[in-house]
Amino acid sequence: ALESIELSLGFGAVTVLRSVSLRIERGGIFALLGPTGSGKSTFLRSLNRMNDKIPGFRREGQVLLEGESIYGQRGDLMDLRRRVGMLFQRPNPFPMSIAQNVVAGVRAHKMAPRRELSAIAQRRLEQVGLWGAVKDRLGESPFRLSGGQQQLLCLARALAVEPEVLLLDEPTSSLDPVSTEAIEALIRSLAPELTVVIVTHNLGQAKRVADHTAFFHDGHLVEHGPTARLFDSPAEAETARYIASAL
Ligand code: ATP
Ligand code: MG
Repeated sequence: ALESIELSLGFGAVTVLRSVSLRIERGGIFALLGPTGSGKSTFLRSLNRMNDKIPGFRREGQVLLEGESIYGQRGDLMDLRRRVGMLFQRPNPFPMSIAQNVVAGVRAHKMAPRRELSAIAQRRLEQVGLWGAVKDRLGESPFRLSGGQQQLLCLARALAVEPEVLLLDEPTSSLDPVSTEAIEALIRSLAPELTVVIVTHNLGQAKRVADHTAFFHDGHLVEHGPTARLFDSPAEAETARYIASAL
């Protein structure tokens, strides 16, 4: 499991989140909802130490991955990022060929012969449904791909290192409905080997993919639970208001 224990996060004098305790079971799909500015991205990024380099970033409390603190002394960032991968709202391919993008992470972590790398690239591109579109242009720049294709490429790259957890920050907000559906189906197919944490403003998406959902508001975790329960009978008035306003 991935757990936050009394986690408080802030930047300088501003506290973004207070005392968030959340347990995300292995192999589950967990959605994070909440109004803009409620701290979803900050929380998500704290799960693989993506905030660490931001000036003024403050953290109290802990994040445990399979019982061990990711902020602990022995923390090796490279190893952590391999275990806990991330996909951002905007695709961020590297300035290298399409094929090299897919295996960039793999190459950073282990020596592998060229043939093995091309096999990995093909397999992951097939998995995200991009193989047909790029198989004849593997050596080309990724920046000529459409935005949606670039996002799928970044997803292939994230999956290629076989992470235990994948953090997704509004991964489909720049995609058309067809690519969105493809990504949602893919996310569902990744469980139970992979734990997925997805930030989304799309409530339908949370309902479709997540087995658990958490609602953030006004600097704290308001409530969380099985997705159907949260939507059908929210325990807190803020949650009910948010769900109603988004319908
Ligand atoms: P959205 O739905 O708009 O993406 P969010 O829930 O992801 O919002 P965050 O991006 O986590 O919200 O931001 C939460 C708060 O933290 C905001 O008030 C924001 O201004 C502040 N914040 C985020 N990043 C930084 C930063 N690098 N420096 C200072 N403040 C920041
Ligand atoms: Mg955000």
